[in-house]
Amino acid sequence: MSVLVTGGAGYIGSHMVLALTDRGEDVVVLDNLSTGFSWAVAPQAEMVVGDVGEQTLVERLIRERGVNAIVHFAGSIVVPESIADPLGYYLNNTVKSRALIAAAVNGGVEHFIFSSTAAVYGMPEVNPVDEEAPFDPISPYGSSKMMTEIMLRDTAAAHDLRYAALRYFNVAGADPKRRSGQSTPRATHLIKVAAQAALGDRSHLDIYGTDYPTPDGTCIRDYIHVTDLIAAHVLALDHLRGGGDSLVANCGYGDGFSVKEVVAAVKAASGVDFEVRIAERRAGDPAALIAGAEQIREKLGWTPEHASLDEIVTSALAWEEHLRSSDRVA
Ligand code: UDP
Repeated sequence: MSVLVTGGAGYIGSHMVLALTDRGEDVVVLDNLSTGFSWAVAPQAEMVVGDVGEQTLVERLIRERGVNAIVHFAGSIVVPESIADPLGYYLNNTVKSRALIAAAVNGGVEHFIFSSTAAVYGMPEVNPVDEEAPFDPISPYGSSKMMTEIMLRDTAAAHDLRYAALRYFNVAGADPKRRSGQSTPRATHLIKVAAQAALGDRSHLDIYGTDYPTPDGTCIRDYIHVTDLIAAHVLALDHLRGGGDSLVANCGYGDGFSVKEVVAAVKAASGVDFEVRIAERRAGDPAALIAGAEQIREKLGWTPEHASLDEIVTSALAWEEHLRSSDRVA
């Protein structure tokens, strides 16, 4: 029996592959390498270069490799990009997910874990926002993920497939053993951008908007260490394998930090007072997104071990330094 990890060469997927291979599981990675790197895939895993939308390929992999669980990370993840290219996002995140889910059903795969997002909530009226809040995405990215959640819900009702949709808040940090980390070229995510500014790879950091209705005027997010996020996936997989019901769960700590607080943390951890400029608001940004994080603790027994902004930014900085000192792309 093996686990198929789509997007296993990407940032979060590669950490899942490490966690699975570290505990001796057979893993097949399917990744089209559009944003991932084959070096990020644990050597114990089998790497297949291909697209999750290729249903025939996925059905063959399921059959030939005895795949019984799919962990689906492959997709596009940049909110402003989704506003500029909605159809690209609906293709990558929704249409291709449909093909993958169909392949899972046809191949008799029983367990499916899906990378969803807090963006399905849009601008929640209440923070922390829990899983009972309605879908109300404000970007094509959020809508594209919401639609996949709905497909999974309906498919699980009709077929012998149980799933976990994990709604990520803001993921950052890297593998403590420096085997993988956030490596995307032209990254747009705040902690990566700040780490690059601290190391001199960028001239400055722009803060997108200081007039939000938050205490310091900048957006608030719930940052979660990738190691804790992956621990939640492993627990979800064990839960499904143990006969547990399908579940939808937020993945965050329930603590929010503003953009200015994150910038201050990166400056403190690096000791570098890099230049910060105030810029216009960025399209599609909700003012605050903080996870109501009870469900994942109650249903999966998840206990975060790295819930500290300082630890997260220190880890991100260490990975950024590692990328610079190796010949890997940053
Ligand atoms: N942000 C910023 N400058 C940057 C990158 C991000 O001010 O260079 C802000 C962004 O507007 C948002 C927050 O940081 O309020 C988190 O953005 P990110 O892209 O990291 O994640 P998102 O919440 O969009 O998934």
